[in-house]
Amino acid sequence: MKRHKHIGISKSRYTLFRQCPKALWLKTYKPELIVINDSLQQRFQSGSAVGDLAMGLFGEFVEVTSYTSDGKVDLSRMADYTQKYIAAGVDVICEASFFYEGGYCAVDILKKENGGYAIYEVKSSTDSDKEVYAQDVAYQKYVLSHCGINVTGTYLVCIDSDYVLEGELDIHGLFQVQDISEAVAQEYPLVASQVATAKKMLSKMDVEPDVDLDVHCHKPYDCAFWQYCSRHLPKQSVFNLYRMNFDKKIAHYQQGVITYEQLQNEELNEKQRMQVECSLNDTIYINKVEIARFLDTLSYPLYFLDFETMQPVIPDFQGTHPYQQIPFQYSLHYIEEPDGELKHKEFLGLSGEDPRRALAEQLCKDIPMNVCTTAYNKAFECTRLKELAEIFPDLSEHLLNIRNHIIDLLIPFQSGWYYVPAMGGSFSIKSVLPALFPNDPELDYHNLQGSVHNGSEAMNIFPKIIDMLPEEQQSARQSLLKYCELDTYAMVKVWQKLKEV
Ligand code: SF4
Repeated sequence: MKRHKHIGISKSRYTLFRQCPKALWLKTYKPELIVINDSLQQRFQSGSAVGDLAMGLFGEFVEVTSYTSDGKVDLSRMADYTQKYIAAGVDVICEASFFYEGGYCAVDILKKENGGYAIYEVKSSTDSDKEVYAQDVAYQKYVLSHCGINVTGTYLVCIDSDYVLEGELDIHGLFQVQDISEAVAQEYPLVASQVATAKKMLSKMDVEPDVDLDVHCHKPYDCAFWQYCSRHLPKQSVFNLYRMNFDKKIAHYQQGVITYEQLQNEELNEKQRMQVECSLNDTIYINKVEIARFLDTLSYPLYFLDFETMQPVIPDFQGTHPYQQIPFQYSLHYIEEPDGELKHKEFLGLSGEDPRRALAEQLCKDIPMNVCTTAYNKAFECTRLKELAEIFPDLSEHLLNIRNHIIDLLIPFQSGWYYVPAMGGSFSIKSVLPALFPNDPELDYHNLQGSVHNGSEAMNIFPKIIDMLPEEQQSARQSLLKYCELDTYAMVKVWQKLKEV
């Protein structure tokens, strides 16, 4: 016998359904299959602080957010408060909540204007992906309209990336408000039928929708169910190909060109072909001549540098803008002469303070002028050094000197001079390292003790340290130091491997 369940729609569930019906069904009935990658993680974070700040955009406001005794959001109480404040003629209601036919929505900011109410949807992004936001707001307009609210405007409140913090934070400068009525008007006529279709689909909890992989798996957002839905693919498939855009991969997939055997007869670029052939023949490609030429460009004393950065949405430090990369840590391994001892230096700023000046000063002490420094994917380190040089003119000569002497350790891999099938078409250090050293637990990031195993975790934990208890602070700092040290140690090992071959 089939089981049936009635599940309501919310604004986020509506937009998920619009991206892919199956994603909403899986989220409802198989949430344990969700896999959050770095890009999704970053999207989920930072939203609440931005939402709280935006509440003050129009002066005085009331917020209806309420919780049950066990700490869950109390939507019915929020809806009751909303009705109460509307009846009392309050001008700005934040998180104003409404129910309609089992569905609900909470409006970030509901503002009385033009004889009705306008919806202001707050996003912590700087881009204006209006199509998705318009779906979200059209759903809100649909619910509110059916609750008897005259919706007189629909707006998007997002972050202005050009804003620079100078003095006190100015929320009117930080946020930009856009009228998205036109985009909402395009989506609005579809809402009722989409909601009905979504409800019908969700009423069948035993019937997983039959939706195949398509461009919607990455657009507008990476889908958290990719791992589950792509489980039928071979380990090496068209989706692992180096530098092929996702739409093109999907086009191959839809034509049944999926495995490396099938891809052999397709038009591929030089590196993609090498990737396919090395995998099929289980061979390693090494261009010793080019690698030797590359190694000749390095000289002693040789430094290996890696920065960790954070990207606060709401700028914390004077002169910075939203999402600016703020370096707060570096690790530096170095060898002074051939067969010399491997040495290590490091810097980790104090959470809660602008770390850039102390970091720049320490770096100038740790790396002398005119020495050869390597970085892995050097554009990142070079850009940070240039930014530091711009804000600290007294250190700029030294910082730019370091920058101008950086050689990219990525070159031999990106140029296709060294390819191991296990790299799987990715040349990031996190792919190259296990491919070159498959059984070395010392180089396995998963084996790191503590709470930091990747750049996202480092970026997230650093600003939080200031609010931790002393023993937690100690442990978080240790985790950061160990993680960053492994990054440059990994670079040393990669360099040694290149010398070996
Ligand atoms: S991975 Fe693709 S097909 Fe699967 S639920 Fe997500 S969007 Fe839909």
